Amino acid sequence: MQLDELYRQVIMDHYQRPRNKGRLDGDVIEIQLKNPSCCDEVVLQLDVDDGIIRDVRFNGVGCSISMASASMMTEAVKGADIATALKLAGAFRSMMKGEPGDISELGDLEALQGVSKFPARIKCATLPWNALEKAVGKE
Ligand code: ZN
Repeated sequence: MQLDELYRQVIMDHYQRPRNKGRLDGDVIEIQLKNPSCCDEVVLQLDVDDGIIRDVRFNGVGCSISMASASMMTEAVKGADIATALKLAGAFRSMMKGEPGDISELGDLEALQGVSKFPARIKCATLPWNALEKAVGKE
């Protein structure tokens, strides 16, 4: 199997079976963001306690890239401390800019690296991360 095909399957798997999709109850941080260029919309909820992202959920509508990125992002940051989550966000942004860097900690998110070749879609992929950074900034 070619790498491109493998990546495509990982993206479609997260799109069709999104992880951590839904809503959290109680006192949580909630951020809603849109990407008008593609009609993507994401609502991100974080339950942060003692600097740790105890739980995370997202909801939204959008293209496969934005929804898969949201699903993968929630998996990557769940249980992480805020500094680690922001480090991952930085690594993801670097990957989207096509910069060389350490992407070993990004896990499934590595499957989105091909998006960096399509500038119009980068906003789709980074939308959930923008929401994450905003949400963490509120804590
Ligand atoms: Zn999109």
